[in-house]
Amino acid sequence: MRDATRLAHPPQVTPAPSVSPPLYQTSTFHLGLDGDDRFDYSRSGNPTREVLEQQIAQLERGTRCFAFTSGMAALAAVTRQVPAGSEIVAGADGYGGTYRLLTRILPRHHVRVSFVDLCDLDATRAAIGPHTALVLLETPTNPTLSVVDVAAVCRIAHAAGAKVAVDGSLASPLVFRPLALGADYAVHSATKVLCGHSDVTGGVVTVADPALEEPLYLTQNGEGTALAPFDAWLLLRGLKTLALRTARQDASAARVAGWLREHPAVRQVSWPGFPDHRGAAVHARQCASPGSVLSFRTGDPDFSLRFARATQLFSTTVSFGAVSSSVTLPYRTSHAAMGGEGPPADLVRLSVGIEDPDDLLDDLARALSA
Ligand SMILES: *Cc1c(COP(=O)(O)O)cnc(C)c1O
Repeated sequence: MRDATRLAHPPQVTPAPSVSPPLYQTSTFHLGLDGDDRFDYSRSGNPTREVLEQQIAQLERGTRCFAFTSGMAALAAVTRQVPAGSEIVAGADGYGGTYRLLTRILPRHHVRVSFVDLCDLDATRAAIGPHTALVLLETPTNPTLSVVDVAAVCRIAHAAGAKVAVDGSLASPLVFRPLALGADYAVHSATKVLCGHSDVTGGVVTVADPALEEPLYLTQNGEGTALAPFDAWLLLRGLKTLALRTARQDASAARVAGWLREHPAVRQVSWPGFPDHRGAAVHARQCASPGSVLSFRTGDPDFSLRFARATQLFSTTVSFGAVSSSVTLPYRTSHAAMGGEGPPADLVRLSVGIEDPDDLLDDLARALSA
C-alpha cells in the first residue's frame, strides 16, 4: 500500500474489552453482505449509542430505549406515533419547546392538540375523547413544579384507548419510573439531569411494550434523528455519576428550598418536597426524590430580573440538572415561545448543582439583598 492508500484505510486494532465503552465514531461499518450485519450505518445503528440505549432501558425498566439528537427530537418522535386526524391531549403547564412543537408543528401533520390541567382528573377525563390517541404529560412540570398523578392519568387514558407519554426530564429514572406506573413512553431531555455536565444535547424514549419498538425505530432511523456516537459516549460518561450527582444535588436543593421559604423577599417556593405542596403526596408516591429544581415568585418581575443577574454561582442559563447551579426567568427564556400562556413574569427557576451548599446559600443571600 502506498501512503495515500494507507491513510484512507487505517488498520483495525482489536483490544481486550475496554473499561470505558469504545467510541465508534464512524458512519459506516464493513459489511459481510450476507444480510445479517448487526451494524451497517450509524444512522440505523451504532454500538456506542446502543450501549447508552441499553443503560437507559435498564434504568427505566423498559424493553428498549431510543436515543435522539435532543429532547425535542425525542418528543417529536413520540408524536409521530399518532395517526393524522387524531388528537393529542397535553398538560397546560409544561416546557415551552413542547408547547411550540404541539401548537406550531403538529397542525402541519393534521394532528389536533388540546391542553388541559392534568392535575385535575375530572377535567382530564372530560378532555379525552374518541379521537385522542396520546396524552402527553410532564411531571413535575417545568417550571412551576406541578405534579401530575401518572397512574391515575394512565388509567383514564387507557380506558379511552389512548397511549400516555411522560416527560420526566426534571427527575431521573433512578427515582422516577413512569413505565412501572402504566405509561407507554418514558421521555427525557437527556440534556438535563442524565447528562449533568452541560455538554450534550440529547433525548431518550423508552418503552416497555415490544409492539411500540418497531414503529419508534422506524421514526428514529427513517427521519435520521438518532443521537451521534460522540454525544452518546459523553452521555455514558455523565451517567456513571448520576447516582452520586443527584443525591448531592437533591440534598442541597432541600436546604435551598427550606432557606428560601424563610426569606422575606421570596414567595410561593414551589418544590414537591414540601409537605404542603399541592402535589406532595402524589409526588412522594410516584417519585423517590423531590429533585434539584425549584421555582419561586417575588411578586415583582424587575426584582426577579435583578436577583437573577446578581447571582454569581447560580449562572443565568437555561437548562437545569447540571453539576453547576443555574438560575433562569422562564418567562424570558425557555418559555418565551408561550407568550401570555406561559409562566408568570416574576417566576424564578433554580437548579441546584453539586457546589458546597453553604456557598450557594451565601450567593442567594447576596443576590436577594442586591
Ligand atoms: C429541556 C426540556 C425539553 C427539551 O429538551 P432538549 O434536549 O432541550 O431538546 C423537553 N421537556 C422538558 C421538560 C425540558 O425541560
